[in-house]
Amino acid sequence: MNRFSSAAIVLGASNYAESDRIVTMLGREVGKLRALARGARRSTRRFGAGLGLFSVGTAELSEKGSSELLTLDSFDCVRGFPGLTADLGRIAYAGYGAELVREICAWRHPEPSIFDLLVEFFSLIETDPLRPELLRVFELRLLQEHGLRPELERCVRCGEIVQDEAGQGVDGSRGGVVCGRCGLARHCAVDGEARRALLEAQSLPLSDHRALDLAPAVNRQARQAMAALIEAQIGKPLQSVAFINKLNQAAP
Ligand SMILES: [Zn+2]
Repeated sequence: MNRFSSAAIVLGASNYAESDRIVTMLGREVGKLRALARGARRSTRRFGAGLGLFSVGTAELSEKGSSELLTLDSFDCVRGFPGLTADLGRIAYAGYGAELVREICAWRHPEPSIFDLLVEFFSLIETDPLRPELLRVFELRLLQEHGLRPELERCVRCGEIVQDEAGQGVDGSRGGVVCGRCGLARHCAVDGEARRALLEAQSLPLSDHRALDLAPAVNRQARQAMAALIEAQIGKPLQSVAFINKLNQAAP
């Protein structure tokens, strides 16, 4: 039996058996993992009220042999982010961030910079006005920290600098823009304005997301381009994107 502790974020949890929960967490030093929290629905001593979604704290874990499911012995919540569940918009943004990290990060592969980025993202959702620009900067930072920085200046097919011409797009599977000559109908279209907006977003730290100001039509293309880049990596659409889109349609 190997016991260790790690700073961790709760990315998801489901009930198991009569009183247990299975928790998906991102450990700062140990990467993404799944752990069984025995008696979590009864024991406030070992888990407090801290196993809520998006909670950040210290997890005491143990693992046995080669089992992929660890045991969560206790979780001491340091930061609960109550503001994230204050309204549907904040739930949607935080849920999107958690889903994106859950899908992109590999099991037991430590990525401390992604842990720090997600904590910062949650904290900005609590304090800042909700704007899609925050999502675009977060998406780009996350891909970069994961070693998948999108190529937004040179065509990923022919290598030439893109000239912002008709037919230009994004090739998700190659991780970047394609020029007008290499662009195909199946590529997600991205015009010059949207490409330059993404390039600007790529240069910003997350805390500077307010420096980015996208017109709705530009954001729409930028969002679709990011979805194409992300979905090519994880092999499927993200569930929370549909939820955010529904909320946006409902907004005045
Ligand atoms: Zn090209």
